[in-house]
Amino acid sequence: MSGKIIILLGPPGAGKGTQAIKVSQGLNIPHISTGEIMRQAVSEESELGKKVKSYLDSGTLVPDALVVDLIKDRLNRSDCEKGCLLDGFPRTLEQARQLDALLSEMAITDIQVLDLVVPDDVLVERIKKRGESGSGRSDDNVEMAKKRLAVYREQTAPLAGYYRQKGLLKEINGLGTIEEVNHRIVAEIR
Ligand code: AMP
Repeated sequence: MSGKIIILLGPPGAGKGTQAIKVSQGLNIPHISTGEIMRQAVSEESELGKKVKSYLDSGTLVPDALVVDLIKDRLNRSDCEKGCLLDGFPRTLEQARQLDALLSEMAITDIQVLDLVVPDDVLVERIKKRGESGSGRSDDNVEMAKKRLAVYREQTAPLAGYYRQKGLLKEINGLGTIEEVNHRIVAEIR
C-alpha cells in the first residue's frame, strides 16, 4: 500500500461520520469506521459481534487488541492500496502507537490527522437531536451521549497532543453547516 492515510478525530456528535463519508467519496478512498464494522458484527451476531456487544451497548471502548487486529486485516485488503480514511480509530494512545508500528511496517508515510473541534454543550445538543430523530443506534440517548463524551475526553482527546507533537495534526472548526465544515476539511488535505 502506498496511499494516503487520513485519520479523522473528533468527539461523538461532531459530525465526524458525515464528513468521513463525504471526504472519502471525494478522494475515492475507502471509509473505514471501526464503530460501523462492529455494529454490523453485532447485528449479524458473528463471533466478533458477540465479543464486542457489551462494550457498544455501554458506550465504553472495546479492548485495544481486538480493534487493532480488525484494522490490521482491513488495511491489508486490496481496496486500501490507494489509501483510506479512518473514522473512529485510533481511540486510545495505545491504538495510535500500534497504528504507527503497523503503518511503518507497511511503509506508509503519507499520514494526515484532522481533528474536528466542537464545544461540549453543542455536542450534547446534537446527540439529543439525533436520538429524537430515531437514528436507531442503541447508544444515542442523552445519558449515553454524556458517557461517550466523557470516554472521549479521557481516552481519545490525548491523541490530539500525540499527533500534534509529530507535526501531523490539523484542527478543523466543526461548527457550521455540513458544507462549510466539509470545505474546511478539503482545504486542509494535501
Ligand atoms: P463510533 O461509531 O465510532 O462512535 O463507535 C461506536 C462504539 O464502537 C464505541 O462507543 C465503542 O464501543 C466502539 N468502538 C469504535 N471504534 C473503537 C475503537 N477504535 N476502539 C475501541 N472501541 C471502539
